[in-house]
Amino acid sequence: MKKDYDFDLFTIGAGSGGVRASRFAANLGVKVAIAEKASLGGTCVNVGCIPKKLFSYAAHMNEELGDTVGYGWDVKEANFNWARLVENKNLEIQRLNKIYQNLLENSGVEIFAAHATIVGPHEVSVEGRIYSAERILIATGGEPFIPQFPGNEHVYSSNEAFFLKELPKKVVVVGGGYIATEFAGIFNGLGCETTQIYRGSMFLRGFDLDARTFLAEEMRNKGVNLEFDNDISAIEKDDKGLNVKLKSRQTIKTDSVMYATGRKPLTSDLGLDSCGVKTDPDNAVVVDSNYQTNIESIYAIGDVTNRVNLTPVALAEGMALVANLYQDTSRPVNYENIPCAVFSHPNLACVGYTEESARQKFSEISVFKSCFRGLKNTLSGNAEKTLMKLIVNKANDRVIGAHMVGPDAGESIQGLAIALKAGATKAMFDSTIGIHPTSAEEWVTMREPTS
Ligand code: NDP
Repeated sequence: MKKDYDFDLFTIGAGSGGVRASRFAANLGVKVAIAEKASLGGTCVNVGCIPKKLFSYAAHMNEELGDTVGYGWDVKEANFNWARLVENKNLEIQRLNKIYQNLLENSGVEIFAAHATIVGPHEVSVEGRIYSAERILIATGGEPFIPQFPGNEHVYSSNEAFFLKELPKKVVVVGGGYIATEFAGIFNGLGCETTQIYRGSMFLRGFDLDARTFLAEEMRNKGVNLEFDNDISAIEKDDKGLNVKLKSRQTIKTDSVMYATGRKPLTSDLGLDSCGVKTDPDNAVVVDSNYQTNIESIYAIGDVTNRVNLTPVALAEGMALVANLYQDTSRPVNYENIPCAVFSHPNLACVGYTEESARQKFSEISVFKSCFRGLKNTLSGNAEKTLMKLIVNKANDRVIGAHMVGPDAGESIQGLAIALKAGATKAMFDSTIGIHPTSAEEWVTMREPTS
C-alpha cells in the first residue's frame, strides 16, 4: 500500500461476496475496511437463501405430517404458529449476523455500519468523512424489482415476505423464477391457498423442459394453482381484500400478492458517476474477467455485476479477486457446470446442459430418464414422484447434464456436479455401485436411453 492511503482495500457491501473477499484479504495482511448500511451477511443471510430454506423446512414438515399415519403414527391435531416461525428465524439470522461480525473483526477488517459512496477513484465517503483506499470493491448485490402497474402499492417482495405479521389465508405469487416458485411452495406447504402467476407458458425458463413440466405437475398435485400465460393488469383493494385483475380478464380475490419478478443490481446512490464507473442498461457494474471496472482501482463482484447471481459464485469471485490482487496465485472461477437448486416443493436441481441446449450444441446425445415413486412414499401413500434425467454426449460418452425433481434434489446433484467436472462418462456411472435403498442409486442404474 502506498503509505498515504487509509486502507488497501475498501469494500462496499457486506454480503456473501464482500465479506469473503474482505476476510480473505485481511487474513493476508491487507488493510481492509467494509461498509454495510443494513445487516451483515447481505441478501443470502437476511432475506434470501437462509431464511427461505428455514421457511421451506417448515412447509415440508406440514406435508410430512400427512406421511406419518401409514408408518404407524397418530399425530394429534397439528397447529401452525407463523409468528413463532418468524421469531425463531429472526433469532437465527441475528446469530448469523453476529458470526459475520466476529469473522470480520477477527480478521482485522474495520467495519463501518453505514452507507458508503464512492467520491473518487480512491475515495469513499462514509457518514461525512472521506477515506482513501488504494482499491475499492463494489459488492452491493441487488434488490427486488416490481414492475409498474395500477395497484402495485398493494404488493410486496420477498424482502417483506420474510417478516409478514400474519400468514395470509390466500396468496398470489407473481413470477416464474427461483423466488416465485420457491415461495409458492412455501405458502402452499404452510396451508395458504396459493396461486402462482407466470407470464410465459412454463415457469423456470432456462431449466430442462421435462424437469419444469414434471415440477408443475407435482406442484398442482400438492394444490398450487399454477396460472401460466397470464399476468396481473391491475389490483384494487376493498374492505374484503385484494381484487387481482388478470390480463385474461378474470379476477382473483386474495389477501396478499407477492411479486418475485427478478432482481436489479443495487447501484443507485453509490456515487458511480463521480468517477465514471461504467454500468450496463440494467445498471449492473461492468467488469472484465478480473472483476476490474473501467476505473483501474475499482472492482466489483457478485450480484451487482448481474452475471451468475448465486451466493457460491459471489464467494468464488471474492476469493479469485483477492488471490489475483494480493497473492501470486490465480484461482479463476470456472463458470462451467455450475450446479443449482430451486427449493421448490418438490426441489428441482441440475448441473450441466438441459436436453434442449444439448441438442443444439452436440450432434448426437442420449437421454436417460427415470420417474419413480420413492420407497418412503409406499407406506405413506404420498403420490409424489421423483424424476431423474441424464444427458450424455454420444461422441465421447460423457455425462453432460443431470436433472432431478424430488426430495433433497440439491443434495444429490452437488455430488454429481463433481462427477461432471471430472468428465465422468456414462460407462463410469454404470460401473459405480449404488447405495441401496436410496433414490440416488437411480443415477447409476439407468441402462436404456429413453431417447
Ligand atoms: P428470476 O430472474 O429467476 O425470475 C424472474 C421471473 O419474473 C421470470 O419468470 C420472469 O419471466 C418474470 N418477470 C420478469 N419481469 C416481469 C414482469 N415485468 N412482469 C411479469 N413477470 C416478470 O428472478 P428471481 O426474482 O426469482 O430471482 C433472482 C435471482 O436470485 C435468480 O436469478 C437467482 O440467480 C437468485 N436466486 C437463487 C436461488 C437459489 O439458488 N435457490 C433462490 C432465489 C434466488 P420470464 O421468464 O418470462 O423472463
